[in-house]
Amino acid sequence: MQGPSQMTDVLDFDRRNIWHPYASLKNPPPVRHAASASGLEITLADGRRLIDAVSSWWCVAHGHNHPAIVEAIRQQASSMCHVMFGGFTHAPAAELAERLSSICPPGLDKVFFADSGSIAVEVAVKMATQYQHAKGRKRRTKMLALKGGYHGDTACAMALSDPDGMHVLFSGMMPRHYFVSKPTALDFASWRDELSRMFDEHGDEIAGVVCEPIFQAANAMSFYAPEYLRELRRICDEYDALLVFDEIAAGLYRTGPLWAAGHAQVVPDVMTVGKALTGGHMTLAATVASSRVADVISSGEPSAFMHGPTYMANPLACAAACASLDLFAASDYSDKVVHIERGLRDGLEPCCALPNVVDVRVMGAVGVLDMSRLPAREDIERVIDETGVWLRPFANFIYTMPPLVTDDASLRRITQAISRLAACPPGPEVSGDFHE
Ligand code: PLP
Repeated sequence: MQGPSQMTDVLDFDRRNIWHPYASLKNPPPVRHAASASGLEITLADGRRLIDAVSSWWCVAHGHNHPAIVEAIRQQASSMCHVMFGGFTHAPAAELAERLSSICPPGLDKVFFADSGSIAVEVAVKMATQYQHAKGRKRRTKMLALKGGYHGDTACAMALSDPDGMHVLFSGMMPRHYFVSKPTALDFASWRDELSRMFDEHGDEIAGVVCEPIFQAANAMSFYAPEYLRELRRICDEYDALLVFDEIAAGLYRTGPLWAAGHAQVVPDVMTVGKALTGGHMTLAATVASSRVADVISSGEPSAFMHGPTYMANPLACAAACASLDLFAASDYSDKVVHIERGLRDGLEPCCALPNVVDVRVMGAVGVLDMSRLPAREDIERVIDETGVWLRPFANFIYTMPPLVTDDASLRRITQAISRLAACPPGPEVSGDFHE
């Protein structure tokens, strides 16, 4: 096999040998050869530039290759790229943990660093189980989750994601948890009754509840009302189940406030953070727990929390995250997001009138067109090429989650590209490659 160093055609090599997310190696969907990225744009090897309207899966909050974050990584690399976290600590980890606990909802101040969002969710679930175990409730090993959710692609995270969704193929190997209806599927009173029934019947097995607060992202692309979160808090308190908010997509201003939990003024027991934590420059996530949870786990048998990945608290990633949090602190991101929300409403709401558009939803820096069916892949590729706006429609959704620093003119280009795509005729029924 020809090695990458002798390769003349990256795209050709890639097509034959490399798997991409949710893609087949047989007749794979097209990929573009990215050569560099800066600010809002990704530059392709042939020189064309695309506005990244999905913030590279929602993490590039401050724009690509932000000089301050690049410099923080460079400086850290000059002294130490990595050291195992078992038996060592270092300044970037301590500084990041201190900063995270100062911006997390009150009381959440014990930090576990993970190497991706999915792993942070696994860690949160293990915390809930170990918390109950430490209290002598060894039967309480199940989680309760919301239908329509998405929490990642590792086994435990898949098992908490929509049970009828994209992971259904793996249901035989996944741990089984409990689910209540999607908050948008039922009125609040009916949903609350269903939740109560679930706890009446299974409360002695439920270690905790996990949800994406306010915004169900990768599965449903929909928003729900804060009262659902308040009810989850109430029932978790009643049963001493841990409330886990997965803020990996919604956190760090994506829906308006710093945390989506802020819409409801609810404080969870455990929270996961990822994606925009490093501003999309390194992979890093964190699971942040309250002192109460940490105390219970640490007083149990075993008192050690049983998880420890090789790249835990990688110094380069921690340095990138500190620089990213500096940027969040240096200007008013809530204000930026209010501005983006207005631009998304102005640009996308007229799409309601298009025949193939079922619903238009906007909250914060998230704009979603719910389609009766996506346009054909050729139309999607053509609109991306013609408009210079990178979009990644999936399921029935055409959406944007642009960098939080997107200027008005670029936002207009994004909403115009989406409107143009939404006006294309519906494509064939099955577009199986289009996930997230
Ligand atoms: N949780 C939520 C809410 C997410 O949106 C995602 C990814 O989209 C994850 C967890 C998984 O994160 P990662 O892809 O970094 O493993």
